[in-house]
Amino acid sequence: MTKWCQNPTCPNRKSSGQIRGNKGNKWYQSSSISSYSYGGGNFCTLHCHNEWSEKYMSQAIDALNVRIHEPIKIYLEDSWFVKYDYSWSSGQNSSRYKLVNKLKGIAHIITKEQAQTPEQQAEEYGDWRTINSTQARELAIQLGLAS
Ligand SMILES: [Zn+2]
Repeated sequence: MTKWCQNPTCPNRKSSGQIRGNKGNKWYQSSSISSYSYGGGNFCTLHCHNEWSEKYMSQAIDALNVRIHEPIKIYLEDSWFVKYDYSWSSGQNSSRYKLVNKLKGIAHIITKEQAQTPEQQAEEYGDWRTINSTQARELAIQLGLAS
């Protein structure tokens, strides 16, 4: 089933791709959603996503009852992550991974094997991928950096 752009003013863009009908009886209509979409597959362009958000986002947050009234906090013990640094110097590229906890003032150099899951290591151009923060915390415990 065709999905249509949810911005009610989508046809106002008047793009050539929105023209339908025959000579003498033509109109612009909302764009359908292709694989290149925005806002979780609801909008044809970033423009439409922005227009809709400007108009409806506050109502949507309230209607879903998901408004945040206090800041979300991540405490020290859950603040581990792996940082990937890529540098290209003197014709040689080198990847370096660090296990970081800024709240503890720690940036500990780790190996690629520690920084990535076996699946990530197997990916051809996946150097930038790293373990998630839960796995980073486990690694920190393994390395004696956290308890
Ligand atoms: Zn649109």
